[in-house]
Amino acid sequence: MSGVRLRFAPSPTGYLHVGGARTALFNWLLARKEKGKFILRIEDTDLARSTQESVDAILEGMCWLGLEWDEGPIYQSDRFPIYREFVEKLLLEKKAYKCFCTPEELDAKREKAIQEKKKPQYDRTCLERQTDDSDRPFVVRFNSPESGTTAFDDLIKGRISFNNEELDDLIIQRSDGTPTYNFVVVVDDATMGISTVIRGDDHINNTPRQILLYEALGYPVPLFAHVPMILGADKSRLSKRHGATSVIAYKEMGFLPEAMVNYLVRLGWSYGDQEIFTKEELIERFSIGSVGRSAGIFNPDKLSWLNAHYIKEYEPVRLAELLVPFMKKKGIDVANGPDIVKVVKTLQDRARTLVEMADGAEFYYKAGFSYDEKSLQKFLNGTLASIFEEIAEKFSLVAKADHESIDTLFKNICSGRGLKMKDVALPARIALTGGTAAPGLFDVIEVLGKEETVSRLQRAIEFVKILEQKKIDDNE
Ligand code: GLU
Repeated sequence: MSGVRLRFAPSPTGYLHVGGARTALFNWLLARKEKGKFILRIEDTDLARSTQESVDAILEGMCWLGLEWDEGPIYQSDRFPIYREFVEKLLLEKKAYKCFCTPEELDAKREKAIQEKKKPQYDRTCLERQTDDSDRPFVVRFNSPESGTTAFDDLIKGRISFNNEELDDLIIQRSDGTPTYNFVVVVDDATMGISTVIRGDDHINNTPRQILLYEALGYPVPLFAHVPMILGADKSRLSKRHGATSVIAYKEMGFLPEAMVNYLVRLGWSYGDQEIFTKEELIERFSIGSVGRSAGIFNPDKLSWLNAHYIKEYEPVRLAELLVPFMKKKGIDVANGPDIVKVVKTLQDRARTLVEMADGAEFYYKAGFSYDEKSLQKFLNGTLASIFEEIAEKFSLVAKADHESIDTLFKNICSGRGLKMKDVALPARIALTGGTAAPGLFDVIEVLGKEETVSRLQRAIEFVKILEQKKIDDNE
């Protein structure tokens, strides 16, 4: 057992973004690798912007990716009394002070500083204030050191240092009594014993302020790892302009969680030139030091390629379970038709997503499809209906519709008529599936079974007869 404790701390103001999911994944992987704990903390102190809907969406995304947490979800909104206690402690120790400056006064000070070409920082008027007229609204500010530097060794970015004079006397409690982000993060990470903070590098500027707060509160400073952003193809920050950014949107588009996890981890982390990792391999091989310093570029094609790989390798029974809701969405109840597991096996080699697989599986369950007439035209020479009749006839006599008997049957028909296999197989495929892009003919027949195959051939015979008659009429 090691003592590492990691956390993912999303603000519930939207869905689980792929960038957030990757941060969660890195934390989860390190916790699993080091046999430590992974904590989920919901940062909902901004009560106006936080919603339960968003919490649910985040939890759904985490569960889908398989990032189970050991503690939590812990809601910051349940911890206000704790934050209040820490504010009191800092006030008592004079490490924080009440500031009664009104917004108008602060605006005037800012204006003045700008005019004097000084950095617009709070001028600490209230630091030395002796009277405590607490009936007036006040904020609580952290008494930040005025000189010196605050530095840390980021596990990804290396050494980062800030001049303390750049850091304002941060507000830690607003005039309505609610604590601010930088303060609650520190109280939480400190009291929850977080050993390494892995988060997006948009938080880098907060880190020195947070370090000063740890020190003021008398807690050890954790390690920090700031993960670079994810960019779109045009190198700007990944946003909706580049396509879906919500993890759950990818679930709905038919991606497998294994592919998503594999994709996200490689977006910034590498292990030689290995591309495909099982979860166990990731846990064994992941290290935060191998996360790159530069931003990763989101590449949907690579994600599709990985998804196709996982679909191909997936256990058919499990894949079938995942496919069922996609079939339902198309109005198909898989109970009415061939065994879905057998269907899946015929489609695994070519589908890139579960949506594509559901599209490809449709013909098995909907016999009333329309035929690809253009392709069928090429085989019309007055004999196609009779070929179909012969297949149907011979087929109803075979004992079992397996590969071997289907193969023999087709070969016999071809040799009897002096035809090539493709002249029989291609139109037969259209008759049974509607088009030419379906799985292999013998696989289709095997899955459909004798009865359904014969019934589809009969429907096709009627259709072909009409086409042939039309052709004769057109030529006359
Ligand atoms: N709640 C913050 C966010 O969603 C994360 C804070 C942190 O990881 O320290 O961006």
